[in-house]
Amino acid sequence: MASFRKMALDKAATHSSERFSLENAPISTYFGENVFDFAKMRKYLSPMAYEAVVRASDSGEKIDRKIANEIATAMKTWAIEMGATHYTHLFQPLTDTTAEKHEAFVTVRDGKAFEHFSGTALVQQEPDASSFPSGGLRNTFEARGYSAWDPTSPVFILDGTLCIPSVFVSYTGEALDMKVPNLKSLQALSDAAASVASLFDPKVRSVRVNLGIEQEYFVVDEALFNARPDLKLCGRTVFGHTSAKDQQLSDHYFGAIPSRVSAYMKDFETEAYKLGIELQTRHNEVAPNQFECAPVFSSATKAIDQNMLLMIVMQKVAEKHHLKVLFHEKPFDGVNGSGKHCNWSICTDTGVNLLSPGATPATNLQFLSFYSAVVKGVADHNLLLMSSVCSLNNSYRLGGHEAPPAVMSVFSGSTLSKVFESILRQEDNVPQKQSEQDALEMVSSIPEIFLDNTDRNRTSPFAFTGNRFEFRAVGSSMNPASAVFVLNTVVADSLRRFRSEVDRLEAAGENRPNAVMSVVRSFLSDASRVMFEGNGYSREWEEEAARRGLEAVTNVPDAFKVFLRKETVDMFKNQGVLSPSELEARYEVFNETYVKKLQIEARILGDICLNHIIPAAVGYQNVLITSIRGGKEVFGDEFRELCRADIETFRKISGYVDSLSSDVESLVEARKKANRISDMARRAKAYSTEVKDWMDKVRDSADHLEMLVDDEIWPLPKYRELLFF
Ligand code: ADP
Ligand code: MG
Repeated sequence: MASFRKMALDKAATHSSERFSLENAPISTYFGENVFDFAKMRKYLSPMAYEAVVRASDSGEKIDRKIANEIATAMKTWAIEMGATHYTHLFQPLTDTTAEKHEAFVTVRDGKAFEHFSGTALVQQEPDASSFPSGGLRNTFEARGYSAWDPTSPVFILDGTLCIPSVFVSYTGEALDMKVPNLKSLQALSDAAASVASLFDPKVRSVRVNLGIEQEYFVVDEALFNARPDLKLCGRTVFGHTSAKDQQLSDHYFGAIPSRVSAYMKDFETEAYKLGIELQTRHNEVAPNQFECAPVFSSATKAIDQNMLLMIVMQKVAEKHHLKVLFHEKPFDGVNGSGKHCNWSICTDTGVNLLSPGATPATNLQFLSFYSAVVKGVADHNLLLMSSVCSLNNSYRLGGHEAPPAVMSVFSGSTLSKVFESILRQEDNVPQKQSEQDALEMVSSIPEIFLDNTDRNRTSPFAFTGNRFEFRAVGSSMNPASAVFVLNTVVADSLRRFRSEVDRLEAAGENRPNAVMSVVRSFLSDASRVMFEGNGYSREWEEEAARRGLEAVTNVPDAFKVFLRKETVDMFKNQGVLSPSELEARYEVFNETYVKKLQIEARILGDICLNHIIPAAVGYQNVLITSIRGGKEVFGDEFRELCRADIETFRKISGYVDSLSSDVESLVEARKKANRISDMARRAKAYSTEVKDWMDKVRDSADHLEMLVDDEIWPLPKYRELLFF
């Protein structure tokens, strides 16, 4: 067998399912031990400093410099006790990963070494980091970027480094990361939602977003991973014939977890628990070697930061197990891709889930208000929401038959749908003026909807699941903030409109329940174009969606353009989430990232074909020639008949090798042509069409060759080897 692949397979066979974590104690005894949480703060801080952190965390109040010094000293003391030597601001640049630059605590003065950490260093760092994508925001002003502590997210220790969750902004204050717009969107949503909630309960002051983030992933053996240059460089396979057996039998889904993976899961869970991540579920997913885990929901900022941290931890622990974890949305063609379902709900500071149907007419009215505002927002900005999950990676998954379709819709379930229908039907029957009692009477018919009562629809990108929405279209490798901040902003905008409509009707003399009900009805009516209960994967829905005027994402760079539409720019500006220039910069980054990723994929595809596949195919042709020549010597003219299979295989291989080498040339040409386009959006468009088309052609020939060339000669691990332990 080809030595590269054989070595990888031999090595993979030696990898065991040994556990590394020595933790035997109940989880509760070490949960959160690596986090500087409130309990530890209470121990290490003066009451005044402790209160300052609590206020900063709850309401974003600024921490003054003197107190920052005290907090830094306390953090340092704790961190050193825990064996940490360095600290870092951990931020979330526009790359879907996190970034860190470690600084040592140690300082030498007058020949004497000691550990030092100042309030200034805690609050702000200047990591330079001028190479991160900024969409031009930094070239025009000042190259420096600053990171600043986000006290709403706890600091923790990872690998001997004190990690300080931070925002990342330019010299002039523009957001260069995912955290800033997310924090701003949460504030906008809190203000708008509290203003609507106070119609029902004047005690409500603020509203928080709760997020429960399900993480899907693949696991492959490290030796096989290293033998696939495409997996190594792109996180996905750019070629590979489907395995005879993959997920047809659904025998992996929810099946017994393979022992190697089970050992890995337990070890990364242990590390996650120490970091205060409350992981709750683990199971096999649909595709072979695909799995999922999910923590219990928490506040949006914490959930997002912990999801990013969890991905780091999963990668680090995988190394110990000689495994590689793949977060790519579509590492393997032909089997399911991976998502990151974001379960999203909103909850008041008085502890009420605003998306939970109530037991009384009044709470039902409140539920309907929030529900209708969310779905109207989704309807008004359907393409924007769909585009917020767009990326090159996710484009391989979306619109496929296992992933949310590329057009936005909302699934409400049959119980709620009936309620909405009857509300819309009553439109004509409602007397102009009715008493408060009558108005409340109308919503009293809504049954209390229990969690179990709601049906599930896996084909919907945005599904209501009883007391929350599940944004299913988010991709597994994405920073969830990139989709969540758009959703928050859309809903904030919609809730603001809701409140002002109610105010207008009340000012005109309408009683409150009537005014609210009337706005609910009009919002539901506007939202009805995204409401869809059927099969989102079906052809009928595609046609129906087009009739309803819903735009589908058919091309990723085209979809990005919605970020520049006037209604988008105005909304982000009015909600104080992103300025027009910040939005434009993001648009630039989307396109640039798309081009760069596709460029890497196209290059590696070309390399593999020229350096691995064609040589293997030609090598096998040489074997065939020898065999045919031998046949001719032995059998004379009869060899044509007797060596027919060899001759036929030789011919087929020649055909594919021919098209492969000329298609790779065309691919290179298409890339060069695209690279000459200076406008990034137009370049991305060229990549998404011409370059991608050639990539598909190249892959097709390569995958055919995999089926023709002797298995002994094939150089790179095959799908059946990568996908099964
Ligand atoms: P499923 O796969 O059936 O959708 P999971 O158990 O895998 O369910 O994940 C559901 C996620 O939703 C969990 O993270 C859970 O904590 C979260 N969740 C439950 N209730 C809420 C809520 N009210 N708001 C936000 N997230 C929630
Ligand atoms: Mg799940």
